[in-house]
Amino acid sequence: MRSVEEHLAAILGSVRELPPVDLALPDARGAVLAEPVSAPVPLPPFDNSAMDGYAVVAADIARASEADPVTLPVAGDNMAGEPGVPAIAPGTTARIMTGAPLPAGADAVVPVEWTDGGTETVRITRSAPPGNHIRRAGEDVRAGQVVMAAGTRLGAAQLGMLAAVGRGHVTVRPKPRVVVLSTGTELREPGTPLGPGQIWESNSFMIVAAVAEAGGVGHRHATIDDEPGKVMGTLRDQLVRADAIVTTGGVSMGARDVVKEALTGTGTVDFHKVRMRPGKPQGFGLLDGVPVFTLPGNPVSAYVAFQVFVRPALRAMQGLPAESLPIVGAVLTEDVTSPPGLRQYLRAHLTLTRSSYTATPADTQGSHQLASLSSANGLIVLPEDAESLPAGSHVDVMRLPS
Ligand code: AMP
Ligand code: MG
Repeated sequence: MRSVEEHLAAILGSVRELPPVDLALPDARGAVLAEPVSAPVPLPPFDNSAMDGYAVVAADIARASEADPVTLPVAGDNMAGEPGVPAIAPGTTARIMTGAPLPAGADAVVPVEWTDGGTETVRITRSAPPGNHIRRAGEDVRAGQVVMAAGTRLGAAQLGMLAAVGRGHVTVRPKPRVVVLSTGTELREPGTPLGPGQIWESNSFMIVAAVAEAGGVGHRHATIDDEPGKVMGTLRDQLVRADAIVTTGGVSMGARDVVKEALTGTGTVDFHKVRMRPGKPQGFGLLDGVPVFTLPGNPVSAYVAFQVFVRPALRAMQGLPAESLPIVGAVLTEDVTSPPGLRQYLRAHLTLTRSSYTATPADTQGSHQLASLSSANGLIVLPEDAESLPAGSHVDVMRLPS
């Protein structure tokens, strides 16, 4: 038997970062930046107005008030993106819109609300200090400043930033393409009727979604029957389109453990018992260089094994730290027991009360009992040497993606 750490280390020792690709910005959403990005120009690139109003010399309106307004001639209009008035002389003003360049000579913007809105002359009823409502060149980003480090996952705000520094393309590590394959003659497609002894196939839908949560793109392959030849043929067919393959089922000790049977012969995929519950039977190896994860068939075992082993590997392939889900500390609300020598992952409900978490284990913990997983928001991680822990004990809890 292997420890969780040993199995994970063997996996992480074999997976490689995906080679970087150049993608158009919209296609890079969710990918991980593989280059540092710096700004070719300052942002904003020029001094401009933060308000719709009038560009003025602050000293000209220093004494303006409701009772004693100052009236100035309007030299013209500065609209965003148009040439407009390049400069104003003291004693004059230009209308200016948000984002329009500040004319030379002006040192303040008076919002239109403080004026009569005139177009030939304007009456200003309040003073403004120098710099009022002016956005200075470079006050967001300096020219040459690195705005994003390699290793940043590109979400909405990051794509906005990249566009704002003028990048139409970026070099990223692509999302790993993961083919997900269920095995089991008893499995039927959801939406079709069940015959005797049959169940609806659920693992592949769950794992494809978990792949997406880990930053990859999952492709669900149709379920294959328990025939070793079919398993091997399908895996070989899928290698060309996959950065990784995840199978479920067929890896324990039964008479029909086809995945194990088919892959044992390859010599590059190894099968191990890992000291964990759920998820003890595991297999991993490379087929033509492609990482193949063979997870157990029971749905909760497959899910937990995915989070513990596959998620870190998919992150490593993206150039991210090879982490599982985030861990928080919590206080147990109930006594728990754990099998000696195995790390146990207990489905639980985490509750945040006054900045600390409590964890309540679910009533059902069988590896076939998906209902308690689908309503859990955490997995209590009980170490191998913990056999019983009383309520009030401090435990680590893996937070499940919401
Ligand atoms: P196996 O590891 O193939 O022996 O499967 C263990 C248990 O998990 C059996 O009860 C299977 O019916 C069930 N199982 C295997 N694969 C799936 C799947 N894709 N969806 C739902 N249940 C599954
Ligand atoms: Mg099976």
